[in-house]
Amino acid sequence: MRKYQLLIDGQFVSAAGGQTFESVNPYTGDPVARVARGQKADVDKAVAAARKAFDEGPWPRLSGEERGRILKGIAEKIEAASADLVSLMIEESGSTYRKAKGEVWLSGKNMGYFGKLAGRETTKPIESLSKPGVSQNLIAREPIGVCAQIIPWNFPLQMAIWKLGPALAAGNTVVLKPAEETPAVAMELAKIIAESELPPGVVNVITGYGEEAGAALAEHPDVDKIAFTGSTEIGKKLMGEASHDLKRITLELGGKSANIVFADADLEMAVDGALYAAFFHSGQCCTAGTRLLLHDGIYDRFISRFTEKAKAIRLGNPGDKGTDLGPLVSKKQQERVLSYIEAGKKEGARCVLGGKAPEQPELSQGYFVEPTIFVDVDNTMTIAQEEIFGPVVSVIRFKTDEEAVRLANQSKYGLAGAIWSQDAEKAMRIARKLRAGTVWINEYHLISEKAPFGGYKQSGLGRELGEDALDEYTEIKHIHIDEIADRSKKFWYDSVVAPSPQPA
Ligand code: ADP
Repeated sequence: MRKYQLLIDGQFVSAAGGQTFESVNPYTGDPVARVARGQKADVDKAVAAARKAFDEGPWPRLSGEERGRILKGIAEKIEAASADLVSLMIEESGSTYRKAKGEVWLSGKNMGYFGKLAGRETTKPIESLSKPGVSQNLIAREPIGVCAQIIPWNFPLQMAIWKLGPALAAGNTVVLKPAEETPAVAMELAKIIAESELPPGVVNVITGYGEEAGAALAEHPDVDKIAFTGSTEIGKKLMGEASHDLKRITLELGGKSANIVFADADLEMAVDGALYAAFFHSGQCCTAGTRLLLHDGIYDRFISRFTEKAKAIRLGNPGDKGTDLGPLVSKKQQERVLSYIEAGKKEGARCVLGGKAPEQPELSQGYFVEPTIFVDVDNTMTIAQEEIFGPVVSVIRFKTDEEAVRLANQSKYGLAGAIWSQDAEKAMRIARKLRAGTVWINEYHLISEKAPFGGYKQSGLGRELGEDALDEYTEIKHIHIDEIADRSKKFWYDSVVAPSPQPA
């Protein structure tokens, strides 16, 4: 079994309390790795190391190009370690081979992108309207400081890169807390980081439980920014924590995305797109297209084709290249998903496929749930409003464009959505009306590293990826430089405001 310690100030060390815990293979139930159970004392040390690396440098003061070169070096190391990362991710998270391979490849690519972005201009001159001609003005973007980054288990490597990439490119230092379900993947990344040219203390990695290590990190007074991806419930809690000392915060939270199929859509393409939207990674994606809105005119035809194709989805060993759908990440997650399915049945939705754990003996050790389709769902039902994070899709009927938009927006979430139609003008019009951070037209789940990603409403705050992500890791400073020749320092506005008439 693999064993890992914490990464603090460039050294691998045991937790101060000496405690450990195990991660579990969701396909077999066997242990995968034994890792340190970081707690408050370890968080304190990690934050102190990050503080020192920020205050004493050199990291925040290196040129952007130099930081970028080091990040590109990490990207190359991820690529070189990809075979091991892929197999570990399959083992620890239940990701299918295809998903794990894609994720590791994208992680290296995303880190390389932030390496390039690190070299962008961080100062911009502007002309002063108050003292034109006698002053120079500079707008500078500067790193925020120590960033606490708390990530989930569904994309254990890519979520780490989406957080580390922009934070480091901008010159911050970090304490990363991976999810308790997938600590080994994060610690393999920590090994890569420790072997890279990053100075000690710039990235510290603390494995542990959310309510222990995570909470201690979010509460720490010397943390300047919290960046979190996970449930809306914990996101709200962290925003409360951040309010005590006005920590900067970005949140990437839940979703209940509407996938809208109009009557003029290419039906086969839309069916395949809807399967991918709902069932990719067993539905464990915050962007999952879990509300399938179908136009009345194609409703029955679409459901019959969709169900037929969903029946062909192959559940199995996630390590087998032909497996489409692996287990859920944990027993807890499997139970949660099954309880939502029961709620759907109780509230009167009609389950036309799945609705339970599979019965095949070879899958009995894994935390599987069958691809599940509910039809005739009312948008107010629990299964249409709550994020389930499993392979469960709710099919909802609509008759007009206005109704489709109203239903899509009738949600506390606003992360993503999609439109399937061959009418480009209509698709664009509807896209602008959806209250969501990403809208795909005739596509799903496609995320570009250059495009900002994040949510409207309770799906989050701020953006990841793209230049916007880098902005989220900077403070803005205005520097006004007065020309020494200008000695009139008394009320400077007297010289720019038109003099008022003197009383007679
Ligand atoms: P999920 O239910 O999908 O596991 P969570 O929001 O609970 O989602 O977890 C996402 C991340 O947040 C994990 O790294 C977890 O350890 C961490 N976490 C959970 N609870 C807290 C908390 N109270 N404070 C800080 N981090 C937490």
